[in-house]
Amino acid sequence: MAVPLLDVNAQNHPLEAELTAAFQRVLKHGMFILGKEVDTLEAEMREFLGVKHALGVSSGTDALVLALMALDLQPGDEVLCPAFTFFATAGSVSRVGAVPVFVDVCPICFNIDINDAKAKITSRTKAIMPVHLFGQSADMDAVQALATEHGLRVIEDAAQSLGAAYKGKQTGTIGDFGCYSFFPSKNLGGLGDAGLLVTNDEKLAEYAKILRVHGSAPKYYHHYIGGNFRIDALQAAFLSVKLKHYNGYTAYRQANASFYQEHLGALPGVVQADPAHCKCMTAQSAALAESKAKVVLPISYEHNTHIWNQYTIRVLNGQRDALRDFLWSKKIGCEVYYPVTLDQQKCFANVPPHALQGCEVSHQLAAEVLSIPIYPELNEAQKQEVVDTIAEFLA
Ligand SMILES: *Cc1c(COP(=O)(O)O)cnc(C)c1O
Repeated sequence: MAVPLLDVNAQNHPLEAELTAAFQRVLKHGMFILGKEVDTLEAEMREFLGVKHALGVSSGTDALVLALMALDLQPGDEVLCPAFTFFATAGSVSRVGAVPVFVDVCPICFNIDINDAKAKITSRTKAIMPVHLFGQSADMDAVQALATEHGLRVIEDAAQSLGAAYKGKQTGTIGDFGCYSFFPSKNLGGLGDAGLLVTNDEKLAEYAKILRVHGSAPKYYHHYIGGNFRIDALQAAFLSVKLKHYNGYTAYRQANASFYQEHLGALPGVVQADPAHCKCMTAQSAALAESKAKVVLPISYEHNTHIWNQYTIRVLNGQRDALRDFLWSKKIGCEVYYPVTLDQQKCFANVPPHALQGCEVSHQLAAEVLSIPIYPELNEAQKQEVVDTIAEFLA
């Protein structure tokens, strides 16, 4: 039985009637840019996240760029961001002329290592961008404490973590800005590109709103240089339909993660990640001491609500590519997020040397990680197939 890594049709096709009605409504009124549907989605998102201001934007990447522009980052300013994340986190820093400074991550929760972030602060450091990778919050108490101590702005890359919470607070609502993505493979996937920018700061929200439409207020009067960062009315209308079902999707993802914890966890050679080795959550840098383990399962911290955008295992002893190829040969979808860390990307080769140092854990993870199917519509037989196929490989 084939098990895809993600099946967007399994989620969208049951909503065909609702999505079609949304499409027809927008087609009839003919207001395709911003407008009523966008106002509605923004209000629903403010409510869902418990945040004061929300702006629908064209993508998660544009949410990041808009946040950096609204914070008036200048050429040469340095921004701390993890080396192990999707490209857009650091790409957007470079696009506003600032310098991404790559910070190592934790081998247990995959998020930014605050001790390493601290070591990389210079007189030019202006901001820090924690990423809540794979759907689990970074250690936001530590991020906020470091930011306060050094006067840094905090931009949360919450592209993978809509609905994930840190000590009861929604990720993306803790720093100065939070940036979400509705790319089809994200937990709230649109029918195209879209994103959201949130903040609790009224001034920043007003400024970002003006920058979203070329920096014009009123129309054709430009005090600033912004861009076209708008979300389409159609996309907003589709997202409002899907948002109603969102908590259900998350519950299924969490149930799927529990299934793997139990059934993969029972296989010989498979261990749960040990929180005692978490570099960031416990602020200690204990060496990994995984003995005889072949596969390490991800964990969710008690104080975190994990939304499992990805279920990412670590395959030790140089066996990752072999397991990936084996799963592919058995028609089980899996993918390496991410095979090349950002400090090793060609396009960043010209950042100052201190921005590229000391990302060893990130490099190790890039060689060990493998994400397996976790999407909400997986059925029991498919999950069992994933477990059985991994068991067959390990035997
Ligand atoms: C998906 C993603 C983005 C970019 O979102 P888009 O909507 O695809 O532009 C940024 N950061 C992270 C961590 C992501 O996973």
